[in-house]
Amino acid sequence: MKLLTYRLKKGGAPRVGVLLQGNRIAPLAAPDMLAVIAAGRKAIKVPAKGLVPMSAVKLLAPIPRPRKNVFCVGWNYLEHFQEGAKARAPGVELPAHPTFFTKAPTAVNGPYDRVPLHAGVTQKVDWEVELGVIIGKGGSNITEANAMKHIFGYCVINDVSAREIQRQHGNQWFKGKSLDGHCPMGPWIVTADEVKDPFNLDLQTRVNGVVKQSSNTRHMYFKLPRIIASLSAGLTLEPGDIISTGTPEGVGHARTPPEFLKKGDLLETEIKGLGLLRNRIG
Ligand code: MG
Repeated sequence: MKLLTYRLKKGGAPRVGVLLQGNRIAPLAAPDMLAVIAAGRKAIKVPAKGLVPMSAVKLLAPIPRPRKNVFCVGWNYLEHFQEGAKARAPGVELPAHPTFFTKAPTAVNGPYDRVPLHAGVTQKVDWEVELGVIIGKGGSNITEANAMKHIFGYCVINDVSAREIQRQHGNQWFKGKSLDGHCPMGPWIVTADEVKDPFNLDLQTRVNGVVKQSSNTRHMYFKLPRIIASLSAGLTLEPGDIISTGTPEGVGHARTPPEFLKKGDLLETEIKGLGLLRNRIG
């Protein structure tokens, strides 16, 4: 099931709905996506009436305003860790535990919205395609064996990053990862029951149609159960929490010469079977 948050083009408050065959949306009664997630997949009743054509709506991020920061995993694909070596202090070893950081809730952006450049603040805006995990059932000290049962669904995320800011604040990445609009996500949440194998999903970034990142989630260094177990150790995960699970190689700053997003660029972020984000830059 594909769950989305939308606003009618003619106006009105955001609504949540189910995407049906033929590009139609069945509106749900729930006030927002967090309420849908809290009630659980089995509680979703798809109405047969009042369907809305996709052409009549603007899609928002499936969770337009998360309750807390978006959890993120750094350095979770080996090739990406290696390509970043030249930008790091020497001697940084492969982590024995997942690297966690977060993005501010205000960074969340829609699947087809503009991604701001913040030209007065950064000159180095970069891309990072990532598999987004949406937590369903909350909990702490979740075991690896139980971790997958806590996943409500998946979405596409681009962990857009302001590279010089990422590194100039005492090696705390938070600020450089949290500029407004720098977390496009969506285009919808695909519920976990529909994602047969989250450990084998092709993911890709394209800029102006040119492939920049192309990999598969099977190359993740820390797999989803380990990420959830490690993150939830002594830290409560709640329904609707978002975990962005790291990016593969091919980011702009590690290229020769380095590449960064420019005004007017078209950033496409895709995971096969989940969906495609199309964000114009600037
Ligand atoms: Mg990332």
